[in-house]
Amino acid sequence: MFDIAVIGGGTVGVTISLDLISRGFSVVLIEKNRGLGLETNAKSLGLIQGGLTYLKSNRRLVKASSFDVWLLKNMFPDLLKKQEFVIPIFDWSKHSLWQWDGYLSEYDKIAETRMLPPHSILNKQEVLKKIPNLNSDAKGGAVFYEWKVEPIKFLREILLRATVQNQKTKFTIAANQKVLGFSKDSNGNIISVNCNNMHGDIFWPVRLVINAGGPWSPQIAKLAEVELMLRPTKGTSIFIQGMPFSYGLITFDKNGKYISILPLFEEQKTLIGPTNSDISQEIYDNPGKAMASAEEQEELLKVFNAISRSKYEKENIVGAQCGLRPQLCHTGVKPENISHDFAILDHQKDGVPNFCSVVGGKLSVLMRMGKETGDFVEKKFGRAPDWRLPALPNCDDKTKQLIISGYKKKFARNHWWISGFAFTSLWAKIRLIVPVIRAFLRRKKGEKQ
Ligand SMILES: Cc1cc2nc3c(=O)[nH]c(=O)nc-3n(C[C@H](O)[C@H](O)[C@H](O)COP(=O)(O)OP(=O)(O)OC[C@H]3O[C@@H](n4cnc5c(N)ncnc54)[C@H](O)[C@@H]3O)c2cc1C
Repeated sequence: MFDIAVIGGGTVGVTISLDLISRGFSVVLIEKNRGLGLETNAKSLGLIQGGLTYLKSNRRLVKASSFDVWLLKNMFPDLLKKQEFVIPIFDWSKHSLWQWDGYLSEYDKIAETRMLPPHSILNKQEVLKKIPNLNSDAKGGAVFYEWKVEPIKFLREILLRATVQNQKTKFTIAANQKVLGFSKDSNGNIISVNCNNMHGDIFWPVRLVINAGGPWSPQIAKLAEVELMLRPTKGTSIFIQGMPFSYGLITFDKNGKYISILPLFEEQKTLIGPTNSDISQEIYDNPGKAMASAEEQEELLKVFNAISRSKYEKENIVGAQCGLRPQLCHTGVKPENISHDFAILDHQKDGVPNFCSVVGGKLSVLMRMGKETGDFVEKKFGRAPDWRLPALPNCDDKTKQLIISGYKKKFARNHWWISGFAFTSLWAKIRLIVPVIRAFLRRKKGEKQ
């Protein structure tokens, strides 16, 4: 008998398991694939960021994520590598150089715990000297930094280190075992997780079950007769041979979505992506069927060619991948405005007292997600929370109120605007006005001199 079964050996499942074993819970981590972190986790760019993109929608999330990054960097200094990004500015760019100067000044301030150098602004000559392959009509560039990991290696490393540190705690990785159902007692409690592999059926008797199935979470919840809704968005990336740029670049697609261009030095390739689009019901029901479409690949190439001096053709694409971001369920908002925070859903209210789901976790919320899940589990077991790391800032993300777990569906569909999302994001935008005005005045002063 294990205290806890964690279903899904991805970013979320591995992180949660590590926190739980450090608190002395016996854990079985069940994963359908042969290895850990091979699904969404493997499609991630591996950026551990404060969240420049969230600056306009949720400042608290940027602060909380940046603190998380600080903790991760302190715990695993060798695994996080500094990634330099340049945002080149053209006549057609939506934001000017001084606007970026304003945004990035604010980002430096709010996200200062990331322990990275502050941003800098390059004029036309400087940016073309730094990035010779950039289109010559570039007007300048903004430079900033994030941390980056190799996602599969990162998960394996942190898992290895945690198991070495907690050798006395019972911890089993049940890889290559797909969860097919649950057995329940007369009170609706799950008494065993039922899996299957090539050798037959396997039953794991447990006290508590955590669903960390990423885009598959709704299907896993269904096995426990619980309705869980997500709003996954699809992210497609392409790879081209060679590295026309030796720095990371950020550019934008026709909808204004951030597209990264990342040189992959070891593989001598360049990654372009990811996209961010809604998915069909068919893909929602079968996340494994998500494919990088030809149109998405062409669109990404177009975005790349718009800023690159050397032009690439379809034939130069040497690979493509796509994954589904298992995000919280929001209706009435565009994919790019969906909350990037995670949530812990207690399915006691759905009639299964010892079942919960953790959804929406990414690399920049790992520590907070581990802590909050661990605290939640200790409460479930009637124990006082035992968190040994520094206190983490609370990220009161109003957008979480939009989470739908069955019964809230109707409410969220009709009233998303009163949930606080509109206010949080409006306030975040207002708070950006001052730094942008300051950057504008700095520029004017510079011109006069
Ligand atoms: C293109 C793209 C780029 C991204 N870039 C970044 C980034 O730069 N930084 C960042 O922080 N985040 C990024 N993300 C988001 C991040 O990758 C995800 O939020 C995160 O990986 C989700 O982790 P997860 O554990 O919920 O899901 P997953 O990693 O998919 O894990 C779920 C696991 O559950 C297993 N599973 C499913 N069903 C069953 C079953 N029945 N039985 C047993 N096991 C099962 C699956 O095999 C899988 O391993 C990106 C996402 C995408 C799509």
